[in-house]
Amino acid sequence: MRLLMNKERCERYCFQKIRSLPQDKRKKMERLELVLFDMDGVLTDTLSSWRFIHDHFGVSNEHSVRAYISGEIDDMEFIRRDVDLWRKEGKLIHSDRLKDLLRQIPLMAGAKDCIQTLHEQDIETAIVSAGLDTLAIRVAEELGIEHVYANGITTDETGYLTTEGILRVPLIEKDKVVLKISEDLKVSRDHMAAVGNSCYDLPMLQMVPLGIAFNPSDECICEKADMIVMGRDLRELLKVFAPYL
Ligand SMILES: [Mg+2]
Repeated sequence: MRLLMNKERCERYCFQKIRSLPQDKRKKMERLELVLFDMDGVLTDTLSSWRFIHDHFGVSNEHSVRAYISGEIDDMEFIRRDVDLWRKEGKLIHSDRLKDLLRQIPLMAGAKDCIQTLHEQDIETAIVSAGLDTLAIRVAEELGIEHVYANGITTDETGYLTTEGILRVPLIEKDKVVLKISEDLKVSRDHMAAVGNSCYDLPMLQMVPLGIAFNPSDECICEKADMIVMGRDLRELLKVFAPYL
């Protein structure tokens, strides 16, 4: 299935310009034990938690995105430049303020029903997001998700943000995080599914037997996903999971 929407966006920023996809696709799933969820655009109804804060401050990180995708800067520098944009009178914001701002981001429709149904079937869930852990922790608490892998920002002793990131999920290397999760939780990749909405989720989808493009924002992920779920209601995922529930 090919989608034409936002095609240009993916071509401009596609990570496949700087790395190739992992070629270790698991083929067959006998039982489902763990579902890995991307956050922004999947569990939350926003394109990017970073972008949400940029928009709040009326800034753009277009330059850094370009530098990152062309391989000029790494994830830590990307985070540093992003956070550096959020200054008010030269000062970075307090972590409580960040928390308050991110509270405005809504959950995706059907998120509670979807996660609850999985948990009722003893299927574990995890968030794998290159977005902000402040939001990921809130979402995990609201939905009862057990495991969170997301990126953070260090704070000083008074709780103000510094520009130093805490990198747990490299934007274009979610495949590495899948391996770490498999080790951490002692769950074989053969028993995992992954859900993502953008081409940055592809390395994660490629590592498990059931990779689902949900509410896809670019063509790239649709080409490689095992299943595509259109629309913005996570209950639709349950139809895909039905054979394993
Ligand atoms: Mg996303």
